[in-house]
Amino acid sequence: MTVKRQFINGEWVHSNSNKVRDIINPFNQEVIAQVTESDETDTEDAISAARKAFDLGEWSTTPATERAHIVNKIAEFILRDKEELAELESLDTGKTVEESRGDMDDIAGVFRYYAELADKDGGEIINSPIPNSVSKVVHEPVGVCAQITPWNYPLLQASWKLAPALATGNTLIMKPSEITPLTTIKVFELMEEAGVPKGVVNLVLGAGNSVGAELSANTDVDLVSFTGGIDTGKKIMQAASSNVKKIALELGGKNPNIIFADADFEVAVDQAMNAVFFHAGQICSAGTRVIVEKSIHDSFVDALSKRVNKIKLGSGFDKSTQMGPMISQEHLNKVANYVENGIKEGAAVVTGGKRPEDPDLQNGFFYLPTILTNCTTDMKVVQDEGFGPVITIETFNTEEEAIKLANDSIYGLAGGVWTKDIAKAERCVAKMRMGTVWINDFNLYFPHAPWGGFKQSGIGRELGRLGMEEYTETKHIFHNLKPESIGWF
Ligand code: NAD
Repeated sequence: MTVKRQFINGEWVHSNSNKVRDIINPFNQEVIAQVTESDETDTEDAISAARKAFDLGEWSTTPATERAHIVNKIAEFILRDKEELAELESLDTGKTVEESRGDMDDIAGVFRYYAELADKDGGEIINSPIPNSVSKVVHEPVGVCAQITPWNYPLLQASWKLAPALATGNTLIMKPSEITPLTTIKVFELMEEAGVPKGVVNLVLGAGNSVGAELSANTDVDLVSFTGGIDTGKKIMQAASSNVKKIALELGGKNPNIIFADADFEVAVDQAMNAVFFHAGQICSAGTRVIVEKSIHDSFVDALSKRVNKIKLGSGFDKSTQMGPMISQEHLNKVANYVENGIKEGAAVVTGGKRPEDPDLQNGFFYLPTILTNCTTDMKVVQDEGFGPVITIETFNTEEEAIKLANDSIYGLAGGVWTKDIAKAERCVAKMRMGTVWINDFNLYFPHAPWGGFKQSGIGRELGRLGMEEYTETKHIFHNLKPESIGWF
């Protein structure tokens, strides 16, 4: 097996230690690739390449239109190689190829969106209160950006960081999750092919506590953008204080999905499943906290469980599969413990709550789609991010109660409200403390709208104009057109 290498200063190189890591298919535990295992010294090399490239100024002073041309080329190559990328993502994560194909379209869209947005950003002239002067505000790249991504949407999360950073003229070092680096490696090949200059994009492949920690602490890094768990986010925040780096943190979520009795029942049931079971619930915005009006609780749970029981588990490469495995044995254990603890706390299993018995699934990290009722906000199963295919069901009688339950969380990433009463929907979303709220929908996102969390779900925004602003410094330039002495001293 050829070992896939890290990309530093325009070269594909082995790590200084020559160590290698096996990459595992979560469907059957087969080794699908070997990648070089970077360490702190490789990371320092990558940072100094990015620093040198930034200080040289070639990329940051390249006209935005030319940078946009290259970023658009990356999008074009992603679509050209879409099938290969989608299959690679599914091999690495276990998700269905159909889902991965959708991801690749979205990823190309993100590169295109930022190519256009950065190209249009010419700064602005502001009204100066001083006679004979011109005052303008321009946006400049932040500098050397470290980008650390998780395993659940490996390339999608990478694109949210790569595209705006590149389009605005930064240099960068990316560290994908050590479990799922394959599509990110491939996109670095595509960036090289698209003509991104040497040293501008660098890739290190290794563990969080070595490579990730070095990226967060190293004082040659100007910004660290991280997507992942809350505990890691806190460590990064502390490490980044070494040189007061800018930080952008996209952390976890425990997202409420409020279903009123006057919602379109069939659609709400269908979408409550979509809200959770895509990629087996391993989605930061999964609507795992279903909060349903008491009067329809029994019929809702009944309809939901009938549908959930029919979800087909299997290989992401089988066309009939609807849900794949958990990412790893460790994560499977975490999900199983989370449910077991929930049962001890008093939750009742309506369906699932264990591994499937199908002999064909025993080598994969599968867990059955699960519904738990009798849940209350004081339970850990309701408060903690399980990150698996698990729905907890709580009930309410009044609008106020529903909102109170929805907001009772340390997280504030996303939430949904289902009702045909427009005024009620608007009243609810105005009070819901989350970065994204859907009315009669769930989990929908696109490059034009910002994404990020209130409360402990993070700091900053990705996507949209705000996602580009994370990668720029704002400079005010004041030009005195008629300089003269003041005569004060
Ligand atoms: P994680 O925090 O374990 O790891 C994320 C990344 O951080 C990995 O690349 C890892 O190697 C690295 N890392 C680990 N320790 C580090 C350290 N000390 N310093 C620097 N980097 C370190 O998260 P995960 O298990 O890969 O991903 C799941 C989590 O990601 C969930 O909590 C999920 O909600 C979150 N997530 C959030 C969003 C969002 O948009 N808000 C999107 C996707 C995933």
